[in-house]
Amino acid sequence: MPPIYSKALKTLFIHHAGQLRQTRTSPCEAKCLLGNSIQNVHTLLAEGKPDEALLWLHTRNPFPGITGRVCPHPCEDVCNRTGRDEALTIRSLERFAADHGRTATLKPLPSSGRRVAIIGAGPAGLSAAHFTALLGHAVDVYDRSPVMGGVPRQVIPDFRLPKDVVDREAAAAIEGNVTVFTNVTVGRDVFLADLLSRYDACLMAVGLWKERILNIPGKEHLQPAVAWLRRMTLDRENLAERDVAILGGGGVAFDCAFTAKRLNARSVHLLCLENESCMRVPADELRQAHDEGIILHPSLLSRSVCQEQGRFLVEAEKETAFSFDEKGVLHVEPAAEPPFHLDADFVICASGLMLDETVLNGMEVERTPRGMVQTDDRFRTSVPGLFAAGDMASGPGLVASAIRSGREAAVSLHRFLTGAEEDMEIFLDAEQQVTARPSGQPVTPHTVGAEELMNIDYHECAPRQLQPKRSFVPGLTFHELEGGLSSEQAMKEASRCMHCGHCMECGSCVESCPGYILEMGQDGPFVAYPSQCWHCGCCRIACPTGSIAYKFPLTMLL
Ligand SMILES: Cc1cc2nc3c(=O)[nH]c(=O)nc-3n(C[C@H](O)[C@H](O)[C@H](O)COP(=O)(O)OP(=O)(O)OC[C@H]3O[C@@H](n4cnc5c(N)ncnc54)[C@H](O)[C@@H]3O)c2cc1C
Ligand code: SF4
Ligand code: SF4
Ligand code: SF4
Repeated sequence: MPPIYSKALKTLFIHHAGQLRQTRTSPCEAKCLLGNSIQNVHTLLAEGKPDEALLWLHTRNPFPGITGRVCPHPCEDVCNRTGRDEALTIRSLERFAADHGRTATLKPLPSSGRRVAIIGAGPAGLSAAHFTALLGHAVDVYDRSPVMGGVPRQVIPDFRLPKDVVDREAAAAIEGNVTVFTNVTVGRDVFLADLLSRYDACLMAVGLWKERILNIPGKEHLQPAVAWLRRMTLDRENLAERDVAILGGGGVAFDCAFTAKRLNARSVHLLCLENESCMRVPADELRQAHDEGIILHPSLLSRSVCQEQGRFLVEAEKETAFSFDEKGVLHVEPAAEPPFHLDADFVICASGLMLDETVLNGMEVERTPRGMVQTDDRFRTSVPGLFAAGDMASGPGLVASAIRSGREAAVSLHRFLTGAEEDMEIFLDAEQQVTARPSGQPVTPHTVGAEELMNIDYHECAPRQLQPKRSFVPGLTFHELEGGLSSEQAMKEASRCMHCGHCMECGSCVESCPGYILEMGQDGPFVAYPSQCWHCGCCRIACPTGSIAYKFPLTMLL
C-alpha cells in the first residue's frame, strides 16, 4: 500500500515557513540539506513513475542529477532501515529520477515587471535565478567564466560528476525569464554599484575561489589545488614517473589525489592534520583512496617545502591534536617525534578557500570574522537591495546547501520586490502553476526514530540495491566511477522505504485493536469511538511506520 500523507504533504511545496507542515517526519527528511520530500519520491519510484518523482525533486532543487551524484547524503546516515538491514540508497534514487524522469515545465507567477541581477552561475546563483524567475521576476545572471555551473562544472572531476549532467541541468534551470552573461567579471568589467542602480535588487553568489596557501618556508613551490584541478580537467597532463604530494585532508585534497592517480602518477601521497577517524571526507571516498593505492600520512602539520635537484622535499611535524579558533587560526599540539620527510616531483596545497574580493570592488559590505559576506536570515547584506547566498555567505559548504540557500534567497528577493511583510508559502497547483500566499504558523515536526517502529518485522529484509561500480584503470580515463540503478533496481530499492512517520494504510492498527475502536475510512484509519479507548497501546505497537503517537486522547494520522 502506498503511504497516505497529510494534506499539506501532498502539496508540491517550493517553500514553507516552518520545517515541514506535518507533525511527524522521518530522520532522512529531517536531515536532507535541501528539504526534499524523500518519501514521496520513494513512493513514486516504487510505482515506476520517475517523471512524477522528478517533479517532486524539482520543487526544491533544479539539480537533482548533480546532488544525486555528489551530495555526501547525510540522509542515508540516519535512515531507520539501518536497524533492520541497511540504509536506503536515497542518493542513488535521486540520481535515477534525475536521469530517467522527464522534466516538467513549471508555470511562473505573472510578470512583476521587476528586474534582478545575480552574480555567479554556480549552484546558489542558478538556483536563485531559477526560482526568482518562477516567482515572476526578470533575471540577468553574470559569471566570469565561459560556462555555467560553478565549482561542479569547472572543478569537480568528471569521474565523480560528468560535465554533461551539469550542462543539462544548468540549461533547464535557466529556461524562462533568465538571461546569462558569461565572461563578465563583476568588480572588473562591471561594478556592483552600477548593477544596483540598474536593477531592482542584486544577489551575489560568487562562491570561494581564492586559495589559502600555507604560510611556510618554500610556499612559492606549492601549486594551488583548485587551479590545478581546473587545469587538469582540461589538459589531462600525463604524470607518469612522477610522485605527487598533496597537503590537505578535505574533499579538494582527495579530488586532487584521485585525479593524479588517473593521470598515471607513480605515487600519490596525502599529508593531513586529521587522523583517519576524523577525516573530512565521506567514508566511501576514504575507502576509494585505500583501494586506489593513495598513501595517507595522517596527523601531520606541514612545516616547509624546499627544492632539491628538481624535486621538492616536504618537512612535517607529527601532532596529537589541533583546532581552529573563530577567526580560522590553527592551534596545534605537537607530538614528541622526529620530523617527517617526503620528497615528490610536485606539491599541491589544498588548505582551504577564501572569498575573492574582486566582486566587492568599490563597495563597502560588512564581513564576518572569517571574511565571508555578512547576511541576515533573509540573505540581506549591509547594503540595501544587495543580497548574498551560497558559500560566500555561509563559508565553505556543499552543493546541496548552496542550492537551498539560492532557493531561499529567491523567496527573500520576492518579498523584498513585492514588499510582502509576512513569510511566504510557495507551491505548485495541479497545473504546475506557481502559487504564493502568506504562511501560517510554522510547525516543528517530531522525527520518528527507529525505536518508534515497534512492528519493524512488518518490513521484510531486502538487500540494498547498489549502483554498478566501474573498476579504476590508471591511464588518463576520467569515466564515471559508478553507473546508475536500473529501472528494476530503482523500484526494488524505493520499495524498501519504511515510510517512517507516515501511514501506509496497512490496517494493522485496526486489526490489532481489542476494543474495535478504530475503523478504516476513505482517508485511512481513524478513531471511531474515542471515549471507549482504554489506552492499551496495541495500535501503536502494531504500526509498522511509527505513525501513531502514544499521546492521549489518541489521534491517528499525525
Ligand atoms: C574541488 C571541490 C570539490 C567539491 N566537491 C563537493 C562534493 O563532492 N559535494 C558537495 O556537496 N560539495 C562539493 N564541493 C563544494 C561545492 O562545490 C560548493 O559548496 C558549491 O559549489 C558552492 O556553490 P556556490 O554557488 O556558492 O559557488 P560556486 O560553485 O563557486 O559558483 C560561483 C560562481 O561565481 C562565479 N564568479 C566568481 N567570482 C565572480 C565575479 N567576480 N564575477 C562574476 N562571476 C564570478 C564563478 O565563476 C562561479 O561560476 C567541492 C568544492 C571543491 C572546490
Ligand atoms: S540532497 Fe543530499 S541529503 Fe538530500 S536527499 Fe539528496 S542525497 Fe540526501
Ligand atoms: S526507511 Fe524510508 S522514510 Fe525511513 S528513514 Fe529510511 S528512507 Fe527515510
Ligand atoms: S498501523 Fe495503522 S497508522 Fe500505522 S501504518 Fe498501518 S494503518 Fe497506518
